[in-house]
Amino acid sequence: MGSPALKGAPRGVLLVTGGSRGIGAAVARLAADAGDAVLLSYRRDAEAAAAVVHDITAAGGRARAVPADVADEAQVLAMFATLDTWRAELDRPFTGLVSNAGVLETQRKLVDMDAGRWERVLRTNVIGSFLCAREAVRRMARSAGGTGGAIVNLSSRAAKLGAAFEYVDYAASKAAVDAMTLGLSREVAAEGIRVNAVAPGLIRTDIHASGGEPGRVDRLSAAVPMGRGGEPEEVAQAVLWLLSEASSYTTGTVLEVSGGR
Ligand code: NAP
Repeated sequence: MGSPALKGAPRGVLLVTGGSRGIGAAVARLAADAGDAVLLSYRRDAEAAAAVVHDITAAGGRARAVPADVADEAQVLAMFATLDTWRAELDRPFTGLVSNAGVLETQRKLVDMDAGRWERVLRTNVIGSFLCAREAVRRMARSAGGTGGAIVNLSSRAAKLGAAFEYVDYAASKAAVDAMTLGLSREVAAEGIRVNAVAPGLIRTDIHASGGEPGRVDRLSAAVPMGRGGEPEEVAQAVLWLLSEASSYTTGTVLEVSGGR
């Protein structure tokens, strides 16, 4: 049997950090379906990453997984070196980055947090996003021989709501992502690069379990005007739009995907 036909016409190479689970995995699947060759990164869960790659490949798409902790500069550089090699092999341009890898820790008041936790959360969510954005711009910029492209950062509604009694550190990290999205978008607009963010509300993924409350979405659903939590695919659709030419005049924005909350 020959290889299955691609569903979408071949497009560029898209890097999705934290593409092994949750929202990142949904983005990887949708983008591959639309024709992107997807390089997805993960930190620990190689099995989950391999499952996403398997599903995409079985459906006729192109995907590859790479272990890389976005909080570690050397690992980010190695991840981009893998991207460079793969992109050249495929002979496709590097057109998109989705900076999705993000973490939070156990719910508690700020007064009970220690500096080690703040360093971990800010290092992954802020420095990780900055490192990936820098490496993407160095490759996409027209002045550096790139073709332009789109960067989408995963923010959170927590940036505006503050996440009191849960994770103010996480909320602050996402506010930093919003500021970077705006500032960087203005720095690179003339390079043909658009930079936007998506701010999800309560989405059904494993991240709430890592905060110590797997049922958090159900507990808070009544406070959502639409009366329910969101699915990773509903966030992925917004990300795909911001990556696409359909949003060609949109940059520096934070798109809320939160059922009105
Ligand atoms: P998730 O289910 O916990 O998945 C997180 C993903 O990121 C996994 O693939 C994980 O890989 C990867 N990851 C974590 N730390 C990493 C690191 N240092 N380096 C590389 N990869 C790393 O999370 P999610 O809910 O899909 O969230 C995705 C993004 O959306 C995050 O930025 C999050 O803050 C944001 N967000 C989520 C919600 C929500 O309600 N779910 C709401 C607002 C914003 P491993 O499995 O290998 O660790």
